[in-house]
Amino acid sequence: MRTTRNLRNIGILAHVDAGKTTVTERILYVTGATCKRGEVHHGTTVTDFDPQERERGITISAAAVSCDWHGCRVNLIDTPGHVDFAGEVERALRVLDGAVAVFDAVAGVEPQSESVWRRADRHGVPRLAFVNKLDRAGADLDRAAESIRTRLGVVPLAVQLPIGREDGFTGVVDLVRMRALTWDDGLREGPVPAGLTAEAVRRRRLLAETVASLHPLALEEYADRPELSERTLVTALRELTLSREAVVVLCGSAYRNRGIEPLLDAVAAYLPSPADLPAVRGEWQGEPRERQADPAAPFAALAFKVSTGTGGRLTFLRVYSGTIEKGATVYDAVAGRTERAGRILHVQADRYDELDRAAAGDIVAVSGLRAARAGTTLCAPAEPLVLEPPDAAEPVVSVA
Ligand code: GDP
Repeated sequence: MRTTRNLRNIGILAHVDAGKTTVTERILYVTGATCKRGEVHHGTTVTDFDPQERERGITISAAAVSCDWHGCRVNLIDTPGHVDFAGEVERALRVLDGAVAVFDAVAGVEPQSESVWRRADRHGVPRLAFVNKLDRAGADLDRAAESIRTRLGVVPLAVQLPIGREDGFTGVVDLVRMRALTWDDGLREGPVPAGLTAEAVRRRRLLAETVASLHPLALEEYADRPELSERTLVTALRELTLSREAVVVLCGSAYRNRGIEPLLDAVAAYLPSPADLPAVRGEWQGEPRERQADPAAPFAALAFKVSTGTGGRLTFLRVYSGTIEKGATVYDAVAGRTERAGRILHVQADRYDELDRAAAGDIVAVSGLRAARAGTTLCAPAEPLVLEPPDAAEPVVSVA
């Protein structure tokens, strides 16, 4: 059953060229292949993408696109990489609950990734790091992780050991589960290769030692069991991610479709659901108001993007509390007017899924709203509130 707990609203943050588009495309490919064919099919390399798969790239330009991963609904929110879209970046950061920061394995942390990282810090967004392009000449996961420490001032926790270097990069050792994941025709899981066992054990210990130095529960166990149990490690990694004291670092090559499945597993395991977050704050006539991510609470949502394209006017909403049904009347408390919602849609990689309702935590596109702009709060008429000051609302952005 889909609940607020198995929702993940995330953004992919990156320096231009680090591979944000490719990572997004591969996430849609891997998850689309999984749910559409009703079986786990892990896709192959880019050369095997058929034209239909390529078309999926089109919806990457949507403000948010949804996909499913092992019972989790993952809403990917577009975060423009270009500095000219600073306002849109701020609003995207406001509506997402977690993010994957993509870095280039050769360049490490670049100036633009630093600025977007700081912005995400200001919004308190928990993050994972994905060191991409491990197949490139000069790629170096350790150096990239070190640049995360020195340039971003956060402790990197590498949970994978690459198998093979540069062009020979074929997979990773998952240091948490001590299993090897390799990609050839698809994903294969197996024991850690004999030649890498000693190094994997050494790195697992190093990871456990660092985690124990940061997390009291892990420290307690560490005294008796210095490699830590998988369970403790996962709990500690999740809590350290949520508190932003450290960042879990994964790696791969999006271009070669290597590393995407464990990245999605990490999104599900370590990044928060809307239910894990504090109540959202707003106000009404000078009085503070709070809303929990509860489907039964009064409805409240923030419009974060409006697009007027060939599909008509679509308003992208982050629902913070309550439930919105198709055809419902909602209230714009700043403008003091009611609006009627038309269809409620999940934008998928290659289609729209029409829903009867959307509940707390979800991100959906709604048709039929005529006046809502990015920054508009929509709420239940009987329980008004404003989530964002009115002067922050922006004019409609037209998308061809
Ligand atoms: P964006 O600007 O961050 O969206 O980056 P793109 O996804 O457009 O990628 C920028 C360039 O890097 C493109 O030429 C991609 O084909 C290439 N690229 C992306 N991922 C990888 C990778 O894993 N390995 C290599 N070698 N190139 C990659």
